[in-house]
Amino acid sequence: MEISEVRVKLVDNKDDRLKAFCSVTMDNEFVVRDIKVIEGTGGFFVAMPSRKMSDHCDKCGSKNHLRAKFCNNCGTTLSENRAKKDMKGRMKLHADIAHPINAECRRKIQEKVIAAFEEEVEKSKQPGYKPVEMDEPDDEIPEVVS
Ligand SMILES: [Zn+2]
Repeated sequence: MEISEVRVKLVDNKDDRLKAFCSVTMDNEFVVRDIKVIEGTGGFFVAMPSRKMSDHCDKCGSKNHLRAKFCNNCGTTLSENRAKKDMKGRMKLHADIAHPINAECRRKIQEKVIAAFEEEVEKSKQPGYKPVEMDEPDDEIPEVVS
C-alpha cells in the first residue's frame, strides 16, 4: 500500500493537544478521514479514527459512556472498571474504525502524516496562507495512555 496524498487541517488552538485532522489517500483510490495528529509527551503521534465505546445500564438499559459512574437516565450507580481491558491491563474506551494491522504499516502512515503535518505548519507561517477545507468531526481527543 502506498500513501498517495495526505491533507492536513491544522487545529488553531495552542492549548489543545489535538493539532490537526488529516485525510489520507491510499493507492490513489481509498481515503480514510479523521486521522488526528496529537501532541504527546514524546512528540507528535498519529491517532486512527475511533469511536467511543459505551455499554447499557443493567437497570434501565440506557446507554452510558464506559467511564460514567452513574447512569445518565436513571442515576443507578454503575460498577467501575467495567470496560474491557487490553493486553496491558488498560481500559479500552475507544475502538478504532480503521487502523493498520502491523507495525510496518503504522510506521509508514505515521511518517507520512507527521511529515505532511510539519509541512503544513511551515506553510501556515507564510503570509496569505489558506487552510485546507475539511469537515471537523465533533469528537473528543483520543485518550493518551502511555
Ligand atoms: Zn439506568
